[in-house]
Amino acid sequence: MLKMLIDPQGREFRYLRLSITDLCNYKCNYCLPDGYDCSSKPNRLNLSQIESIVSSFARNGIKKVRITGGEPTLHRELTDIIRLLKSIPGIEKVALTTNGHRMSAQLQSWKNAGLDAINLSCDSLDPRMFAAIVGRDALADLLQGLDKAIELGFHDIKVNTILLKQFNASQINDLIAWASNKPITLRFIELMQTLDNKEYFAANHFSSDNVVQRLLNSGWSERIRSLTAGPAREFTHPQYIGSVGVIAPYSKDFCQSCNRLRVSSQGKLHLCLFGEEGYDLRPYISNDDPSLLDNAIAEFLGYKKDSHFLHSGNSGHTSHLAMIGG
Ligand code: SAM
Repeated sequence: MLKMLIDPQGREFRYLRLSITDLCNYKCNYCLPDGYDCSSKPNRLNLSQIESIVSSFARNGIKKVRITGGEPTLHRELTDIIRLLKSIPGIEKVALTTNGHRMSAQLQSWKNAGLDAINLSCDSLDPRMFAAIVGRDALADLLQGLDKAIELGFHDIKVNTILLKQFNASQINDLIAWASNKPITLRFIELMQTLDNKEYFAANHFSSDNVVQRLLNSGWSERIRSLTAGPAREFTHPQYIGSVGVIAPYSKDFCQSCNRLRVSSQGKLHLCLFGEEGYDLRPYISNDDPSLLDNAIAEFLGYKKDSHFLHSGNSGHTSHLAMIGG
């Protein structure tokens, strides 16, 4: 019988975010301003371990997997990983979160392998501002990748923009106008404090309430959310095909709608983006007895706390989001 992952607070988990590498080619000033630390040993999961772990989650009721990183498109076997995940019984949807690297050239093969949905990170539509935030002059490539995704008929395209007071906050209206006429959802995400970005956070956190007010004042209305929806709030407008969302991790009740678990590229289960150091799943992988891993995952879920402690400035063990996969 299909099991279901339910934590002590009664939250159900059908969604797994799987980091396949912590390597990143960007230097986003809120995440990895000095770039990826190449001195650390990768020791990442191989395809067979990924298959064992995701199969176990699928037996436990997980239906959707989002591939993330680091930058997942840097992994040479990305297309094989998409195909593998799609072939696992119970996995209905495979999505990818990317900065757009190699996207326009590779998207067709990712789609052929079974990719269902794309999240593209884009913090500004102004090339100079974009480069100032991510450390790379790559906006044109990213937009080419986005056009390709629309051309290939992807139904679920999201563009994620981190709200940054000193950088893109003055461009919010431009971003909304741009997204309005595209078949995409633009999501403004509030900056989160990590162990590495405390001062940056203090100078740049910008509340998404500001975006919500703008939307409501200009004819957008909030979409009714299903009980199992994640923490994003989404808005639509009768005249536009695009929709706009906000993700506000500091808002009251944010964690009540938590519907996701995370596995790092090192094979550790993270119950919260800002929690413990992760529970190592590799020791429980066994071809002879898959129930070892099934039981371990169910047991670890029992340790999930009701909330993160970001409100009190506590970022847990998280130095930056590239280490877990944001
Ligand atoms: N490299 C991929 C990308 O750029 O989408 C995937 C990994 S990246 C860590 C995932 C998302 O986390 C990106 O949208 C990034 O902007 C976001 N992110 C990173 N650090 C963050 C922070 N401190 N607060 C909020 N979002 C953050």
